[in-house]
Formats: sequence, structure tokens, C-alpha cells
Amino acid sequence: MTHIERNLARITSVISDARDKSKGKPTLVGVTKSLSVETISELMRAGLTCFGENRVQEFLPKYEALTDAQPTWHFIGHLQRNKVKFIIDKVVMIHSVDNLPLAQEINKRAAQTGRIMDILIEVNIASEDTKHGVAPEEAISLARALAPLSNIQVKGLMCIAPFVENAEDNRIHFKNMRNLLVDINAQHPHNLTELSMGMSGDYHIAISEGSTMVRIGTALVSKEN
Ligand SMILES: *Cc1c(COP(=O)(O)O)cnc(C)c1O
Repeated sequence: MTHIERNLARITSVISDARDKSKGKPTLVGVTKSLSVETISELMRAGLTCFGENRVQEFLPKYEALTDAQPTWHFIGHLQRNKVKFIIDKVVMIHSVDNLPLAQEINKRAAQTGRIMDILIEVNIASEDTKHGVAPEEAISLARALAPLSNIQVKGLMCIAPFVENAEDNRIHFKNMRNLLVDINAQHPHNLTELSMGMSGDYHIAISEGSTMVRIGTALVSKEN
């Protein structure tokens, strides 16, 4: 077994153990930032089919190199409006929508390519100065503003939790994300189902708090244990 196969097996079993068995299985999105095409191919040979990239200029060459293999791509990083046109026909979901002008641009480009783009609203759940995302108290009004845009579909919320030594410290933020999703759904006409939360250090906690998509980079390629 290669270290990548071992990592993937371990992560898959942590996901199975952490999840609420009455719910569906959380999606594992392999984060490819700083990974080579060769490493992504190795992950695909090990069975991973879903990837997320956070920079457009790094995404495009990887996408082109892997078109034959056809993995599913998510866009997970901060996105500038003028870059939307490069990714609109190449990804299945954009996780990082935190303002109306960006959403309007995605809506416009999606309409031009005849599709409906799934998006998530990025929430700055711990109100960190350094993070993108809407303030938690603004998420409801952004969701309401996006509802009329007919070529985007708001599927849920995404957050990047703080960097912490002890993953348990992020439990409160994951709980708050789930409560926010419930609050938004209580307002007609929303039916959000996705919570993209949890990374290498804390995905087990995020899943136990209702995450439906974990974004994992480091733990997939780590050579430790
Ligand atoms: C880098 C990154 C991840 C993965 O982080 P790891 O700690 O390496 O698992 C997840 N989401 C986003 C938006 C990222 O930029």
C-alpha cells in the first residue's frame, strides 16, 4: 500500500465512523492546492473522484491535464468576478460565494452556458478578520437576495473554521453553522441541505455536527503514520 492509499482508507473509515448513520454519507472533496497532476492521478487510482481547487490559475492546467480521467471538480477558494468565466463550465459547485455581485456574475455566465450552477454561501463563522465569507447575521439576507437568480441554485453553506490546536475548539463553530442552516430554511423559500465544513484537522468533529462535505488536503498526502 502506498501512503496515499493508506491515508484514503483511514479518512474513509473516519468519515464512516463519525457520521450519523441515519443520514447520507458526507462527500470527501480532495483539496488539490499545491498538489501535482501526478499526485492527483495517484489519488484517482486509489479511488477518489471528487476534487476541489481554490485558485483559478492553478485549477485550469490541472483540469486540462485530467480531462480524460474526468474527475468531478468543485471550486472552493476566494473567487474574483472576472475569473468566473474560466471555471463556469468546468466545476459542479462553487463553495465560496459571499457577495451579491459575484453571485450575479455566476448567474449570468451560467445562463450563457445553459446551466444551473450549484453554489454555497461562505460564512465567516468565527468572525475572523483574515477570512472571507459573510458575517453569520448576513447569511440570511444574502440567501434571500440569491433566491431570484434562476441560473444558480443555493445548496447550502460553507465555512473555513479557525486554525486550532485542539479540533474540539471548532465544535461550537460547526454547531453554529448547522443552526444557521436551520434558521435560513425556516424562512421561505429556502431548502438548503449542504454544509461544507471540516478540513484535515477537524473533519471528524465537523461530521459529528452535520457536515455533508469535507474538504481535505494535507491528510490525504501526509507521509506520517
Ligand atoms: C486548503 C484548504 C482546505 C484543506 O485544508 P487541509 O487542512 O490541508 O485539509 C480546505 N478548504 C479550503 C478552502 C482550503 O483552502
